[in-house]
Amino acid sequence: MKQSEIIHFSKKLVESGLITGTSGNVSIRDPEENWMWITPSAVSYEQMSEMDLVAIDLTTGVKQRGRRDPSSETPMHRAIYLEKPEIQAIVHTHSPYATMFAAAGKEIPALHYLVADLGDYVPVAPYAIFGSEELGQQVTAVLRETNGALLEHHGVIAVGETLATAYRRAELIEYLAKVSFGALLLGTGKQLTHEQLTEVRSKIGNYFSKS
Ligand SMILES: [Zn+2]
Repeated sequence: MKQSEIIHFSKKLVESGLITGTSGNVSIRDPEENWMWITPSAVSYEQMSEMDLVAIDLTTGVKQRGRRDPSSETPMHRAIYLEKPEIQAIVHTHSPYATMFAAAGKEIPALHYLVADLGDYVPVAPYAIFGSEELGQQVTAVLRETNGALLEHHGVIAVGETLATAYRRAELIEYLAKVSFGALLLGTGKQLTHEQLTEVRSKIGNYFSKS
């Protein structure tokens, strides 16, 4: 199992500024048990160890391992794993530039070619209160076409076939938001087309392959 990866990438999320305080959460799928392992609720990432992680049965939603309460966003993570069997890891943050777009209810447009790794743009899942089944449904709906999305008035979700990939995409979404924020201030309205982004995907397929 890769619980140590959760700790590694959680600390990296704090170091990189993508997560502050106890916001955000990280999980991985455990395909052998049909569980997911997720970060706990209300434990600082600096002090978190593998002992604090919580295992949840994906079918029933019942806790299987761990002394802590699971993250409040457990229903959202579980909904994504149930809906998308190829997804092995999920990172959720409130990273500031991306959350500015989320707070404004605006998608991150295709102003930089690296958005191709996520989709044709970064969509916004309509608002639902944190920790709810409804939020899980809204998010899984938009993730049918992308590897990352914004949660309206809330934050960011990134998924991947590995935790390293999900982490990289969470980082990429924040970068794209920052660049787009500046580009929009400068006044550009010209976006990359679906054809241009498809061309990018075919050219850098290996570069973006599972890390
Ligand atoms: Zn959140």
